[in-house]
Amino acid sequence: MTDPLLTPVSQPGCGVCRLHNDQEAISRFEIHREPLWLLRHHPLPAPLAGWLMLDARRHLGGPIEFSAEEAAGFGPMLQRGSSLVRELTGCDRVYAIAFGEGARHLHLHLIPRFGDDPATEAWRVADLYRAMASGTRPPADPQEVAVLVRQAREQTALWR
Ligand SMILES: [Zn+2]
Repeated sequence: MTDPLLTPVSQPGCGVCRLHNDQEAISRFEIHREPLWLLRHHPLPAPLAGWLMLDARRHLGGPIEFSAEEAAGFGPMLQRGSSLVRELTGCDRVYAIAFGEGARHLHLHLIPRFGDDPATEAWRVADLYRAMASGTRPPADPQEVAVLVRQAREQTALWR
């Protein structure tokens, strides 16, 4: 019998599940995949280069629905993913934010906070996001994002 945790359950209509199963779309942004977690760059347009996303592989709304195995594994993955954002960007701090409204599937935003950029401070980062989404602020340079994704894959290939 197959371990249900090793066979992520997809939910029809969920954008995160769809992305995980769309090899062409995810291949541009995927950094690291393991049985319970998928670490990826924010898709284009990206608000900031180095804005990563930590997704549960299984369709679940948030930590309240974690299995014991997911609960035990979340901390180490969060620590590694956050450290990776800092290594890639040289940022001062890394925010971890999950709303789960765009898709009711845990996708944690790992956001670089730069001490010399007030636009990345606390809730202002939400304004930055909306400004990019509405076109009043340019998104991150796609070339820069591609370089960071490559670097991130090199780093995570050394994990374990
Ligand atoms: Zn899902």
